[in-house]
Amino acid sequence: MMLGQTLVEFVPDGQVVGRGTDFFPGSDWTPYQDLLDDEGRMVANVGSFLIRTAGHVVLVDLGLGPGGALLDNLEALGVAPSNVDFVVLTHLHRDHVGWTGAFPRAQHLVDRREWDYWCAHPGGVGPDPDRVLTPMARRVASLEEVPRGIRPIATPGHTPGHTSLLISDPDTADRILILGDLLHTRAQFAEPTWRFRSDADPGQAIRRRVDLLARYRDGRTILAGGHFSGDAFGESENENESESKNESESESEKNPVSETTCQPSITGQ
Ligand SMILES: [Zn+2]
Repeated sequence: MMLGQTLVEFVPDGQVVGRGTDFFPGSDWTPYQDLLDDEGRMVANVGSFLIRTAGHVVLVDLGLGPGGALLDNLEALGVAPSNVDFVVLTHLHRDHVGWTGAFPRAQHLVDRREWDYWCAHPGGVGPDPDRVLTPMARRVASLEEVPRGIRPIATPGHTPGHTSLLISDPDTADRILILGDLLHTRAQFAEPTWRFRSDADPGQAIRRRVDLLARYRDGRTILAGGHFSGDAFGESENENESESKNESESESEKNPVSETTCQPSITGQ
C-alpha cells in the first residue's frame, strides 16, 4: 500500500488458529461468521509490517521466528536481512519477537516500560530471555529513535508498554495506523469491549481501544492489524469527523521515554 512515497506492506510469517471464544472469552461471534473459517475458527495472521521510506527500511514486529516464512517472504519482496535499518516492536509477546537476531544492522526500538517489564518477568507469553532478550539488549533503543514518518502512540493494556504506530508521509494527508494487538480481529471494530485472553490489564486495553477508534476513524486513516484474518489493512472509516484533532495531540501521545540504557537491566533477572 502506497502512502505518498512510503510503501507499507504486511509480510506474513505464519498463522495462529483457534476458536474465537478461546481468544475472547465470553464473546458472541454470531454476527461475525464471515470472519471465521469453514470450521468456525479464527485464523489470526502473524508477521511484520514492512515500511520502505525514501531513506529507511523498517520492520514492525518480528513474528514467531524460525520455522515461519518471514525471511522468505521478505526476500520475495527484494529485502535482505542486512537491508533492514530499524525494527520497531509494538510489544514483546513471543509472537512479535520471534526473528530477533535475524537483522544484523537493525536497531531495535521498543517502549522503555515494555522492555523493563519483560526484563523483570521473562518467559510465559513474553520473550525468551536467552533467545530474545539477551541478543536484543545489544541493539535495543527507545522509541524516541524512530525515523520520521513513524509516530509511536502509547496504547498500554495488552501489555504494560504496548505501542501503536501512526505512519505518515509528507506527500499525502492519508495515514496508516498500525494497531499492534490493540485489535486482533475486525470484529473488535464493532465489539471494542471484547477482552483478549492475555491482556495484562483488560480494562485499560478497552479504554485505549475505544479512544483510538474514536480518534482515528477519521476518513483518512487506514487501521491495520497484523493479526487480522486475510488483509491486514482495514477500511478507512468515515465516522467521528468531529474527533479529528490528531495533530494537536501529538505531544501528549508521544512516548515519554527519552533515555535508553536498557542493557544493564537484563542480566541476572
Ligand atoms: Zn500478538
